[in-house]
Amino acid sequence: MAGEAQDDCLFCKIVAGQIPATIVRETDTTVAFRDINPQAPTHVLVIPKAHHKDAAALAAEAPQLAADVLRETRAVADEEKLDSYRTVFNTGSGAGQTVWHAHAHVLGGRGLEWPPG
Ligand code: AMP
Ligand code: ZN
Repeated sequence: MAGEAQDDCLFCKIVAGQIPATIVRETDTTVAFRDINPQAPTHVLVIPKAHHKDAAALAAEAPQLAADVLRETRAVADEEKLDSYRTVFNTGSGAGQTVWHAHAHVLGGRGLEWPPG
């Protein structure tokens, strides 16, 4: 069922504390932690605690939770003292999604090119 923890999901395991992560923020509904393979001086992932497979599913199945995730991206940027930053939701393998639990990348701390690769 939408939102239920998945046994085989890496990010559900981070939410459950079964896999370690460098957590920078936590709310009732979200967790933010540092990406293990950072692509910028700040590279934090913001995830809903509930399992939704990608950003589109999250928005359709739990719009309030999607808003919580977006609000948290700003909170992370504030904590990291970033005026400019990029929020990325890779959606689908062709766009680089590798973990099938919705997550926002918050990238900043260096100049960011547009368009992205
Ligand atoms: P994506 O490719 O958009 O699905 O993003 C998945 C992100 O998760 C990648 O940037 C990975 O570096 C990151 N990642 C994978 N495993 C971990 C982990 N154990 N802790 C933190 N970040 C991770
Ligand atoms: Zn999950």
